Amino acid sequence: MAQEKRIVVIGGVAAGATAAARAKRLDATAKVTIVEAGRYVSFANCGLPYFVSRDIEKRSELILQTPEGFMARYGVEVLLNTRAVGIDRAARTIAVAGPDGQASIPYDSLILAQGGSPFMPPIQGIEADHVFRLWTIPDMDAVHKFIGERSPAHALVVGGGFIGLEAAEAFVERGLSTTVVELTPHVMPPADAEFGAMIGKAFAASGATVITGRSVKSLRPGVATLDDGSEVPADLVLVSAGVKPNTELAKSAGLTIGASGGLVVDEHLRTSDPHIWAAGDMLEIVNRVSGKPTRVPLAGPANRQGRIAATNALGGSMRYAGAVGTSVFKAFDHTFAMTGLSEKAALAQGIDARAVAVHRGHHVGYYPGAEEISLKLVYEHGTGRLLGAQAFGKFGVDKRIDVAATAIAGSLTIDDLAELDLAYAPPYGAANDPINMAAFVAQNDESGYAPIVSAAEALKLAQAGAATIVDVRTNGDRRKLPVDAGVHIPLDELDWRIDEVPAGPLLLLSRAGYESHIALRKLVTAGRTDVRNITGGALSLSLAPGFVPGSN
Ligand SMILES: Cc1cc2nc3c(=O)[nH]c(=O)nc-3n(C[C@H](O)[C@H](O)[C@H](O)COP(=O)(O)OP(=O)(O)OC[C@H]3O[C@@H](n4cnc5c(N)ncnc54)[C@H](O)[C@@H]3O)c2cc1C
Repeated sequence: MAQEKRIVVIGGVAAGATAAARAKRLDATAKVTIVEAGRYVSFANCGLPYFVSRDIEKRSELILQTPEGFMARYGVEVLLNTRAVGIDRAARTIAVAGPDGQASIPYDSLILAQGGSPFMPPIQGIEADHVFRLWTIPDMDAVHKFIGERSPAHALVVGGGFIGLEAAEAFVERGLSTTVVELTPHVMPPADAEFGAMIGKAFAASGATVITGRSVKSLRPGVATLDDGSEVPADLVLVSAGVKPNTELAKSAGLTIGASGGLVVDEHLRTSDPHIWAAGDMLEIVNRVSGKPTRVPLAGPANRQGRIAATNALGGSMRYAGAVGTSVFKAFDHTFAMTGLSEKAALAQGIDARAVAVHRGHHVGYYPGAEEISLKLVYEHGTGRLLGAQAFGKFGVDKRIDVAATAIAGSLTIDDLAELDLAYAPPYGAANDPINMAAFVAQNDESGYAPIVSAAEALKLAQAGAATIVDVRTNGDRRKLPVDAGVHIPLDELDWRIDEVPAGPLLLLSRAGYESHIALRKLVTAGRTDVRNITGGALSLSLAPGFVPGSN
């Protein structure tokens, strides 16, 4: 009888639990063992903030499996509270330290799924007992207990990425006066500045205080001191300042680590050792848009990588194409989502990227309940290839971003997006969905029919006196969002006031970019050449870095 294959998985949450279950499904005769340092296997870390907020009331809902359940359902052995402390690649064994002391476990194939750990910045006082992180069930329990027992009045969240913001929302929901301090110029650093501004505004509107461009220097009970010497009340502090991959074990075993700090794997998720595969947050993977190595510490990629790693550890040859990097996040009654490259990331990578912005109803305006979605598409100039998308709004944000994520995976262009047949009836969308509309704007720019300029660039040009903003909004729209413009000529008066349009480069401004598009065509027809439409209009301009509300 052939000897059973021994598969050992280090780490038993998203990637590890998936890999182990898949391995056993593929080969029921294999002996599959999960080695997990923590107290829980397969728990829902993504749900932790929603237990703190009390949206999820039952703690047990977050614990998706137990060692007994894993054995009964999948036949997988789970060793909890057991840390892998060494890998002997020649002997194909791992050394573990657990409740029964040290042991050695042999493997034929090893899968590393050790995830990452929260980065704790060097802040004086960070070890104090009112300072927490939110990474595991015990972390969540500690925060929940502290709120219940100490009734803190003021929470401080250090770091305005998605986990920090989810925690901040939970604290607001629990009635704590909450401050978020973010080092970079806006919250949600991977997003472009205007979306960071929208998210920051949603938090401020819901009662949180958002401080950007500052760092926390020291903590003492009740008070945090920032780098400018100012103080913030902080009875409870939650640190969420980034994730570092858990690669110490892999490093000490001599496996190759990439420039991003993640563990290097090939397209089959095999490490530099032919008997060791890996999956999840600890990896360096290929960004599917840029083709460059990167880290994407998110649950979706981790689960799918776990499935592929297990398949290949059992002799398969499944390929991992890389991640697009799609995420979605709840900001009180709004949603932000993004996929692919932001405009700033695309430009930083030397890609000739362009971006368009539209602000449109999530369904037609005449059907009750329409809410505005702000949607940005980033694409490659020349080829029109979609590089990324970001969206913010109350409804329908995830739908648009999932369409964009699928489009990126299929290497679609803005021409393809312009032609997409998307589901439409008045309660759900519009005959031209915001995705179609944004693609139309991009097509018009690429063809030269209606050139655009980004709101940030327009602001810089106008402030430097290099171009004149011509505001074509109605007086009513101008009052709602004052912008200092060189000239104001409402669109409906443009035909007979065209002589008042100044000479030189023009940047046309309307509420969201639509009326200014019509104005642009009128001016071009009248012989003007250096005319561009500010994409996203005054709504985008008001979110651009350096914007100062006008006096009109
Ligand atoms: C609060 C929070 C909210 C999140 N929300 C979302 C979300 O909404 N959407 C999303 O896509 N992602 C979200 N994530 C991220 C997502 O949870 C991770 O991307 C995912 O869990 C990564 O899976 P993983 O298996 O690689 O690592 P993990 O889930 O971190 O599991 C790794 C496991 O390995 C164990 N381990 C490490 N070293 C050893 C060792 N030497 N021996 C034994 N065991 C070891 C650890 O104890 C750990 O349990 C969230 C994360 C957190 C913390």
